[in-house]
Amino acid sequence: MSTGQLIIDLDAIAANWHALDALCAPTVETAATVKADGYGLGAAQVSRALARAGARTFFVATAEEGAALRETLGDAPAIFVYSGHMTGDTDMIGDLGLVPLLNSIEQMTHHVEALPMHPFGIQLDSGMNRLGMEPEEWFAIRNIALRQNPQLIVSHLACADQPDHPMNAQQLSQFREMTAGCDVPLSLAATGGVLLGADFHFDLTRPGIGLYGGLPFEQAQPTVQLSIPVIQTRQLDAGEPVGYGNTWIAEEDTRIATIAAGYADGVLRAISNQAVLFADDTPCPLVGLVSMDLITVDITHLDHTPRALDLICELQAVDDLAEPADTIGYEILTSLGARYGRRYKGGQ
Ligand SMILES: *Cc1c(COP(=O)(O)O)cnc(C)c1O
Repeated sequence: MSTGQLIIDLDAIAANWHALDALCAPTVETAATVKADGYGLGAAQVSRALARAGARTFFVATAEEGAALRETLGDAPAIFVYSGHMTGDTDMIGDLGLVPLLNSIEQMTHHVEALPMHPFGIQLDSGMNRLGMEPEEWFAIRNIALRQNPQLIVSHLACADQPDHPMNAQQLSQFREMTAGCDVPLSLAATGGVLLGADFHFDLTRPGIGLYGGLPFEQAQPTVQLSIPVIQTRQLDAGEPVGYGNTWIAEEDTRIATIAAGYADGVLRAISNQAVLFADDTPCPLVGLVSMDLITVDITHLDHTPRALDLICELQAVDDLAEPADTIGYEILTSLGARYGRRYKGGQ
């Protein structure tokens, strides 16, 4: 086998959902965000495991993701679409019972004309300036919109991973002002918002990254292991280079393992000459540039040739790997390549 193997722990994902749920009052519903193929881990497997754990409401980015999810989960769960109701989405939304989160007056008009009586939610912009209706826009149509019986009103926090950031309180107060007197279920919190405490929970939370073991949910169980098979090893003399551009030169006699993954598999090239891989518990430095399908690793200090080296494991969580790439766990997860074999454990 010459592809990397991902082992995805569905029990850990379910445990993370329960742990986030336990941080909220029993009256607060914990939903699940499973966009971007369940943050790279497989939306079908992940969402089935979450449904078994007790999740009844799911969030995706696009109607296409919602359509696939409906196929996976059947008719019962509610599926909300963050991008709202886009041109071309009407049949999917209508036929598959997806619930668009309408982001503008334009989307609202389009929705009620194309699918009168079809359920919808509303996304408000409480300050992030990315998606959702601005306060002025919202107050102009609030009464009309509320008469159409929205299922849910949501907004999203820009700085929830920084508990002390003044933006959190600012957005909370803006959201409260915009929704005052609305007799509609409300949702402000993703993973970061859940951790900010009860003021941010409202009726429903919609965590994503915390389910998959990423920061800011420090207590999360890790959910992924990535093992990359060793294809070949070789002995180098001091002074010999490794990889494209000769960016790494052996300072002494060195044993190099060449392993079967590269930037085409989402191993970010930025970790070249920076990251380590693990042979069981022993760190082994990545040397030279990451190439498209291959990575070279210094295994001089090992007393054996391992069959595979781990890039993501208990000793190196996705956020640890994000650091040398100057990115975040979210990007590490959603970059996990299509070539990897994906094996699931648990989930029953
Ligand atoms: C992605 C997303 C979420 C989930 O966020 P996490 O930080 O992964 O928990 C929730 N709401 C919106 C609007 C999103 O775009």
